[in-house]
Amino acid sequence: MVEYQPTAGVATSVVAIGSWHSMTISTELRNLPSVERVVNGEMLSAAVDAHGREVVVELTREVLGGIRKSVLAGNAAPPGLQIAEAVLDLIAGLSEPSPRPVINATGVVIHTNLGRAPLSDAALAAADAVGRGYSDLEIDLGTGRRGSRQAHLQSLLRRLTGAEAALAVNNNASALLLGLSALAAGREVIVSRGEAVEIGGGFRIPDVLRQSGCTLVDVGTTNRTYVRDYADAMNDQTGAFLKAHASNFRVEGFTAFVDERDLVALGETSGVPVLHDVGSGALLPTERYGLAHEPTPQESIAAGVGLVFFSGDKLLGGPQAGIVVGKRDLVAQLERHPLARAVRIDKISLASLTATLAHYVMGEAETRVPVWRMISATAEDVRARADKWRVTLANHQVEAGVEPARSAIGGGSLPGETLPSWALAINPSANGTPEAILSALRGQPTPVVARIEEDTVRLDPRTVLPEQDDDVINAVAAVLAR
Ligand SMILES: *Cc1c(COP(=O)(O)O)cnc(C)c1O
Repeated sequence: MVEYQPTAGVATSVVAIGSWHSMTISTELRNLPSVERVVNGEMLSAAVDAHGREVVVELTREVLGGIRKSVLAGNAAPPGLQIAEAVLDLIAGLSEPSPRPVINATGVVIHTNLGRAPLSDAALAAADAVGRGYSDLEIDLGTGRRGSRQAHLQSLLRRLTGAEAALAVNNNASALLLGLSALAAGREVIVSRGEAVEIGGGFRIPDVLRQSGCTLVDVGTTNRTYVRDYADAMNDQTGAFLKAHASNFRVEGFTAFVDERDLVALGETSGVPVLHDVGSGALLPTERYGLAHEPTPQESIAAGVGLVFFSGDKLLGGPQAGIVVGKRDLVAQLERHPLARAVRIDKISLASLTATLAHYVMGEAETRVPVWRMISATAEDVRARADKWRVTLANHQVEAGVEPARSAIGGGSLPGETLPSWALAINPSANGTPEAILSALRGQPTPVVARIEEDTVRLDPRTVLPEQDDDVINAVAAVLAR
């Protein structure tokens, strides 16, 4: 609930002594207008016509309730006009879209707090078309009979990963929960100690295993695990081997991790499937862009893994989704499990995911999928944009520099890996503290989220969409012109 906050002008303090004080308070309270009087006032008549009396009465009640509390705390009551204004502010707030669009000038491509991957035009158009009306979500237009919502993705994902079957659900966390519940509930799941990790947001592999009704059997050590560790721990209670990509940290130095192929070979002898959570769902080779190799779903499928799990909104560059690809009989077990209904993907995400996957099939992901457009931009491309910003600002008498920077991939992908980049740099000494500049940028009509490095506010063009250039320039100009 939004409460009335007394403004500085209104909060003239009442001297808090004895009975004079309580008398003032009771007089103030008595003098407050009734809900009826405020609602019937001229200022709210248009709002009553537009939204109906009920909601205006409700919001007026909230505002007056807030004022009563404020008066009891020793503040003066605001004049009648301000009460109606506060109600109008609440009404305006209710119709503002939330979450609001912001500009990501942090240089972190997959920024979870900023909504991860921006969608391609085609993905947005697909979501719009399906959201606006009815669709063949679960109907086979050939036969007129009931179809499966998963059918829309099957052939694309088979083509892209080489898997026999595929399933998309709400997100990767729920995909894992579903996979482990369906295949290994009541049984043991063997995990390397180096992979019993926390992904972020309190999502921990051991907790997901417990929640799925599996018993975690951890083997090896944090830095080294061998196939024989899995072999030694295997028994007739083993339900699966689980591999999880350490997507948000790096183990360096004296390390040994088990190759998927060896694990697949070990499991095959007794029908134990290998489940691999690859995390970010990179379908393109990250090394092409000078980054470390990020495991791809297609590699795991080629290695014979039973099921591969990944997110839709990290390096895949689509909407929030969890994707499972792998062996037909295993995917079918997931589809039949009661949890599948609880974590199913909605039609809007499904439509935009399908459109995103189509970019990869058509060989146009690098130019059409925003995260790959950002990753594939060269340092020189980024520098040219930063320079363009600087020159435009200089024409408005606003001083800023252009400095070398590093852009991060983020979002649980490629930990520690950065791309050489350039950034617009705002010198703090002349313009207030870096923190004050960051906060003022966030307060602009289109909020801009930047970062501080070496006591300088930096705006990295790599993660700013091309159509947002003017908004960035206006925001910086407004902040520095103060
Ligand atoms: C990000 C991540 C997850 C969680 O995926 P969501 O789509 O956010 O639910 C799980 N495992 C790994 C390895 C990840 O990197």
